[in-house]
Amino acid sequence: MALQASELTREWLTVYRTALDQMLQGEPVASVLHELSSGIAQFLPEAIVSILSVDENNCVHHLADHNLPQEYINSINGLPIGPSAGACGTAAWRKEVVICSDIESDPLWVDYRHMALPHGLRACWSVPLIDNDNIVLGTFAIYHNHPKAPSSSEQSIVDYASSLVLLVLRHGRLEGHRLLLKEGLERSPVPFLIMAASRRIIAANQAAINLFGYEHQSLVGQTIENLSSSRTGHETLNEIAHIVGSGEYWRGEMYARHRDGEDIPVEISVTSIPGIDHKPQSYFIQLLDLRDQHADRQELERLAFYDTVTALPNRTLLNDRLSMALADTRRAGEYGALVFIDLDHFKRINDVYGHSHGDQVLRACAEKLSGALRETDTLCRLGGDEFIAVLRFSATDPVIASRHALKVAKKMEDALTLPLQAEGHTHRLSASMGVSIFPKVLESVDDLLREADTAMYRAKASGRQTIVLFDPSMHDEVSNHYNLEQDLRIALEMNQLRLYLQPQVNPTGQWIAAEALLRWEHPVRGLVPPLQFIPIAEESGLIIAVGEWVLTQACQLLAQCEQAGKPLKIAVNVSARQINDSHFVAMVERILRNTGADPLHLTMEVTESVLLGNADTTADKMHQLARLGVHFSIDDFGTGYSNLGYLRHLPLRELKIDKSFVQDVCQSPDDAALVEVMLTIARHLGLRVVAEGVESLPQSEFLIKHQCDYMQGYLFGKPEPAQELVAAWLGRQ
Ligand code: C2E
Ligand code: CA
Ligand code: CA
Repeated sequence: MALQASELTREWLTVYRTALDQMLQGEPVASVLHELSSGIAQFLPEAIVSILSVDENNCVHHLADHNLPQEYINSINGLPIGPSAGACGTAAWRKEVVICSDIESDPLWVDYRHMALPHGLRACWSVPLIDNDNIVLGTFAIYHNHPKAPSSSEQSIVDYASSLVLLVLRHGRLEGHRLLLKEGLERSPVPFLIMAASRRIIAANQAAINLFGYEHQSLVGQTIENLSSSRTGHETLNEIAHIVGSGEYWRGEMYARHRDGEDIPVEISVTSIPGIDHKPQSYFIQLLDLRDQHADRQELERLAFYDTVTALPNRTLLNDRLSMALADTRRAGEYGALVFIDLDHFKRINDVYGHSHGDQVLRACAEKLSGALRETDTLCRLGGDEFIAVLRFSATDPVIASRHALKVAKKMEDALTLPLQAEGHTHRLSASMGVSIFPKVLESVDDLLREADTAMYRAKASGRQTIVLFDPSMHDEVSNHYNLEQDLRIALEMNQLRLYLQPQVNPTGQWIAAEALLRWEHPVRGLVPPLQFIPIAEESGLIIAVGEWVLTQACQLLAQCEQAGKPLKIAVNVSARQINDSHFVAMVERILRNTGADPLHLTMEVTESVLLGNADTTADKMHQLARLGVHFSIDDFGTGYSNLGYLRHLPLRELKIDKSFVQDVCQSPDDAALVEVMLTIARHLGLRVVAEGVESLPQSEFLIKHQCDYMQGYLFGKPEPAQELVAAWLGRQ
């Protein structure tokens, strides 16, 4: 039955509309094509319609048909296309129409005719369905039950029909892609939003819903303002709107707002999607949750600027805060103060209880110190047992500021001296503090720190638990101190040290021993007294080498007198720092061996401060040396805080009454009483007593009357160059 041209057109339109409707309604491609196959068949009576797809592996698959035998469909499903693979396989391969008017004789069917012929299929015309990108999506074929070539009208029907089929396939392909994209976005762990020009969200994926904590329904419809934290600010949002509104891409960081009100740091990128008029119509927003990154960054910042033990600002942050404080006070014409706080004897806590306990104590100290400060002040930890407080006052007068600063420092000290509990132990701490007022003209942060440090040092030197206000004259002292230390380093090599001896006598005035006293013959300064350079030597550690030199000299003199048959007893001063040195005992033994001096003639004068370190170790070392025959004498007795109980455990032979008591023994009844007490204590402990600094006859008479064993002082002889005194000793009698 042939159709008239007008009818034909109408019929085609119906077929076309049916397919279009089905596509718009989202029907599966296969069923649209199936319907289409039947529709096409009405234009070609007797024709059998077959639509195949071609996959990425170049194999064909049945998509839809009209009257094609199922068995045949099964046999060709999955076959590869090729240069001579029947009509469809070859058309897809060549990308051109293939007409096989007689399957039985057609060479392209050599391998396939056994499949077709049994089902009565005798002719096949096949059109490849090629997409715009030159990809073969499938084939459209017409079979006949008898050999047949297409007439020209049949050819145009096939052309038209195949273009319709291609349209459906193309739609199916796009739809497939769209579904994949949709599915991908939906499943992506990256949050996405789509926003309309009205600034309302019109779509969101699951990750976005999770990020904002909304139900899907309620996230859609929110305005972008609702989803942003107030920290982001309207200006930023307007700026973004302006940029993406002009079609550009925006990317940056801002804060999103969770439904619960939490601010979430995010990186967002906004892409505008143009509408039909090519103007941005909606916006594709991609978000990146930065919470983890922010936490990492904050942790890094904390490590870089805060002390890990006390959580106080560290040196780096201090420098920052100080330069700000300097600038602020300069601008405001106000004053502030820097307090350098150094805990006294903190090292002992670390040594005795271990570092983790020490850290606990430091934390407790930090708390006490902060408690004494106001909010506008800053407490920092420099490291070790050193803290810095930066104080701000509204004072416009440096004197008033100093007064305030000293008051605050005192408050901190009072807080520190209260008993402190840590892990079941009670500690009583104190600190030495140096205070410096700022700003001064042309003063840098470093200058300021140095000043407070200098003042703190002065506090330490004047017996700890003291607060000292920096005074510019300290500058000279500091540089003097520094120069002396540098010179002392070379004094040993340059042979500038001299040993002097001062005689010690018994009550009848007989010379029985001598104390070795050190002198430094400085090439420029002349004779530097030991009270000036010994503390520097102790502080810098040079005392170890200096002490070794003194001991060697003294032992050589001992050996010299022993060899001359007139042994002299020599007392050498040994400072705490020397005894605490781990090689001390070995060093003494070596010197005794090398010089051949008899240890019995050697006395070591130590002050009570030796016991401030690790008292047990010190006592142990003294016992080792005492076993060799060395005598120990406790020097400057009465000036320190003696622990008499502990002194009993030391191998002491002698006690030296400090010259400060001897000096006033005839004028001050108090000192007289004290000297008497010391003599009693000594007798009680079984120690002989040497009184030092005896300058007058009445002094010596008092001492003799109270049974003092030996005396030393200008009355009997000043310290003199050792060789001269030894010559005098050897030449006597
Ligand atoms: P020190 O051990 O108390 O020494 C006694 C000090 O009193 C010496 O001062 C001595 O010259 C001084 N002196 C002696 N007789 C009199 C007197 O009648 N009146 C007065 N006013 N003073 C008298 P020097 O020699 O200046 O030594 C000072 C300190 O330096 C010593 O005090 C000692 O602590 C330390 N020192 C000296 N030599 C050494 C040494 O080789 N090693 C160590 N570690 N310290 C030393
Ligand atoms: Ca001495
Ligand atoms: Ca003394």
